Amino acid sequence: MKFSWRILVLWTLPLLVIGFFVWQGIFSPSLGLSENAANTRMTYGRFLEYLEAHRITTVDLFEGGRTAIVEAIDPDLDNRIQRLRVDLPGNTPELVSRLREEGISFDIHPASNNGAIWGIVGNLIFPVLLIVGLFLLFRRSNNVGGGPGQAMNFGKSKARFSMEAKTGVMFDDVAGIEEAKEELQEVVTFLKKPERFTAIGARIPKGVLLIGPPGTGKTLLAKAIAGEAGVPFFSISGSEFVEMFVGVGASRVRDLFKKAKENAPCIIFIDEIDAVGRQRGAGIGGGNDEREQTLNQLLTEMDGFEGNTGIIIIAATNRPDVLDSALLRPGRFDRQVNVDAPDIKGRLEILDVHARNKKLSDEISLEAIARRTPGFTGADLANLLNEAAILTARRRKEAMEMVEIDDAIDRVIAGMEGTPLVDSKSKRLIAYHEVGHAIVGTLVKEHDPVQKVTLIPRGQAQGLTWFMPSEDQGLISKSQLMARIMGALGGRAAEETIFGDAEVTTGAGNDLQQVTAMARQMVTRFGMSDLGPLSLESQQSEVFLGRDLMARSEYSEEIASRIDGQVRAIVEHCYDKTLQIIRENRVVVDRLVDLVIEKETINGDEFRQIVSEYVQVPEKERFIPQL
Ligand code: ADP
Ligand code: MG
Ligand code: ZN
Repeated sequence: MKFSWRILVLWTLPLLVIGFFVWQGIFSPSLGLSENAANTRMTYGRFLEYLEAHRITTVDLFEGGRTAIVEAIDPDLDNRIQRLRVDLPGNTPELVSRLREEGISFDIHPASNNGAIWGIVGNLIFPVLLIVGLFLLFRRSNNVGGGPGQAMNFGKSKARFSMEAKTGVMFDDVAGIEEAKEELQEVVTFLKKPERFTAIGARIPKGVLLIGPPGTGKTLLAKAIAGEAGVPFFSISGSEFVEMFVGVGASRVRDLFKKAKENAPCIIFIDEIDAVGRQRGAGIGGGNDEREQTLNQLLTEMDGFEGNTGIIIIAATNRPDVLDSALLRPGRFDRQVNVDAPDIKGRLEILDVHARNKKLSDEISLEAIARRTPGFTGADLANLLNEAAILTARRRKEAMEMVEIDDAIDRVIAGMEGTPLVDSKSKRLIAYHEVGHAIVGTLVKEHDPVQKVTLIPRGQAQGLTWFMPSEDQGLISKSQLMARIMGALGGRAAEETIFGDAEVTTGAGNDLQQVTAMARQMVTRFGMSDLGPLSLESQQSEVFLGRDLMARSEYSEEIASRIDGQVRAIVEHCYDKTLQIIRENRVVVDRLVDLVIEKETINGDEFRQIVSEYVQVPEKERFIPQL
């Protein structure tokens, strides 16, 4: 029964109370509508006096002549008519005959039984409902294993976790993260044949923590484990534990484990565990009570079941550094599996998986796609092929071709394509800006080569210069960083050289942000400045706002200003060189701008070809990964 008694009871109480008063007003035994208007009373003696003085105009008798509502004229108040209520001494036939004599209009209203019954019902029904309501409320709170604070039981009915009896995902569907798969293969065996381990006294791990950036397949992997082992999959996201009401999260944890125990063996998957599992007591204001309670409950539950009940908890996070150490100690999430973004080989395998159900033309080489997509995660690649399939369908083609793939890559990286600008001054300025990036990127040896320059807007950008991404090799040299800074400054340098200092635009805002961030990291993290090999700042983590504020003073005020000085020096040095490159190559820059305005897009080879007619283009060393 999905119907929630709790809600009913909660709402019934106040409604009952309100209803009671309303009902009383309408149905309590009444003298009819006129009674409301005659709240002023008059004594019987006074009434007789009035009668004597002929001040009474009408009389209505109620309740078998026990009460009367009379209308009387008040000579003191300009003969205004007053409505008054009189209690009579019982059935008085003389009064009736007197009224008749006097010619006063009168009426006798019989006592209505109907009204009396309603009155009794009205008086009884609400107390009865109230008692029933209270009874239900107490019954609920006694039943559902809760101590105080459980009466309302908010967490109970909002079961926010989901259960899949069969996930339908197999290890075959997960590609490119072989090491992770191998480690987790064992978990499948734990679930399928626990005897094998318990027989020799091995303790089966309770928790596995999957660590990796978003989209690398953590959720998929957890589902695959459940799928391979053929067990139900319970999942909840850490953020769903955290609620406005203190105690709700904890009660959800309890619920989740209760359900899981009923369905063991099974997998409990907690996504984004960092949302609840952050270090306790961190942050401004000493942390969040609700979160801590939830976390404590989670820890308690994990300790509370034996390793052999057949429940394995898999949690995912991309921020293992912020997790509370209590979560990571043995007996909890003691297994940690890294799920990283795939390398080129992994990307190829993932593309294989997702190309299975798509129609690709023969000219498509998945290897070429894998080479073009360094840094893409599994989710990006899945999205890429899906976008390409949508484009193919939209273009009414039989099978997907490389054009669709190219368009889809651009779209996944930079967003939707817009309509090209018409030729105008601002289009020229954008053209100079982009050609500026591209020419600096081409002429600085350590910079990645240009892939294409385009004036077709995409996402937020009015124009774009694409560089060939290099396979991530982990280490980046100082000269490469300087080259990147110069490349990023190329746009602004071109604007300034061609249009003058007063005409530069806001278009470079993003570039400058990147430039500053890179230069600052060179100084404070990589020891690449005159300040020497010092690490002055740890990696930015805005998670613990408070802690960062506290930790700001790793260095003195004096060092702080020297850092600023060094950052400035790096950027200025790079900017000078960039300006120089633009000035020295003004002729070819002008020619390239004309070309890109005419054609909207120039590809890298053509670009280099034209530049090489004027100056020597340095040969770039490229790392080509083997497959
Ligand atoms: P995460 O949980 O790490 O953020 P998901 O598991 O939700 O990532 O991945 C989202 C989608 O991306 C998956 O449903 C799947 O289609 C695709 N995907 C991600 N990683 C992989 C992978 N390694 N192999 C195959 N598909 C993947
Ligand atoms: Mg996920
Ligand atoms: Zn730019």
